[in-house]
Amino acid sequence: MNPDPQVITDGQAMSVWADDVRSRGQRIGLIPTMGYLHEGHLALIDEARRHVDQVVVSIFVNPTQFGPKEDLARYPRDLSGDLRKIADRKAKIAFVPEPGEMYQPGHQTYVDVRGVSQGLCGGSRPGHFVGVATVVLKLFNIVRPHVSVFGEKDYQQLSVIRAMVADLNVPVKVLSLPTVREADGLALSSRNVYLLPDQRTRASALSQTIVAVRAQVAQGERRVDVLLVQASQLLSVAVDRLDYVEIRDAVTLLPLSLLDRPAVILVAAFFGSTRLIDNGRLDG
Ligand code: AMP
Repeated sequence: MNPDPQVITDGQAMSVWADDVRSRGQRIGLIPTMGYLHEGHLALIDEARRHVDQVVVSIFVNPTQFGPKEDLARYPRDLSGDLRKIADRKAKIAFVPEPGEMYQPGHQTYVDVRGVSQGLCGGSRPGHFVGVATVVLKLFNIVRPHVSVFGEKDYQQLSVIRAMVADLNVPVKVLSLPTVREADGLALSSRNVYLLPDQRTRASALSQTIVAVRAQVAQGERRVDVLLVQASQLLSVAVDRLDYVEIRDAVTLLPLSLLDRPAVILVAAFFGSTRLIDNGRLDG
């Protein structure tokens, strides 16, 4: 059993630790999370360890990325379980700031990544990606990591982070990892804990729809509207409410009518009041 990671709650103490590591010539990896860790998060730690000497996992349920009617108050939390999992994966530092540490009185600066935030989750969760980009840039500035690893599970979020890093010349290398899934295809998510048994069964329709659309593409179908009709039909029998299903350019996230370049299908749907997302590449 590995000893628990050192927990740092203070931003300045976090920066001092990181400066010390850097001054010894070591490289730092940062995994930003909202906690309630699962194998998807832990795979990001494993990947970071392949590239750096020290891995910092941040655990922060970021209030600015939740809308007023969303699940901020009831978002699942299990700090002691998270610390045990982090230790098992040999990350040494958990950065666990309080909201008041990250957003001091008078906070007034936000990061607005425009193009790739349009539509999809940016459409149904106004302000969400401003909150995400702001907190991630703050975490980058506090920890100053060489590398940061994100999951492709949150495809639009990954695109937002990549755009921010490029546009604002942030000196960090962004890496990504494919989505880690349950045996039936359901993408691991901290929010899966909300699902009732019947909702959990139906939730596999998200990934199954992606697989079915991929099969149609493999058979030669290139028309996005045709692919989306099939996807909507499959989803409509399983979900309680479809938020969106769309096929977009995999790089720009702009809408497409024909699969003539690398593309991605993205879906968001409600099971009861639980909103889940998934996506998959469609590379023709
Ligand atoms: P979260 O705690 O949900 O904000 O996620 C923190 C990081 O873990 C993000 O980079 C997510 O994309 C990533 N992540 C979440 N679920 C998965 C998964 N099933 N597979 C891989 N990465 C994931």
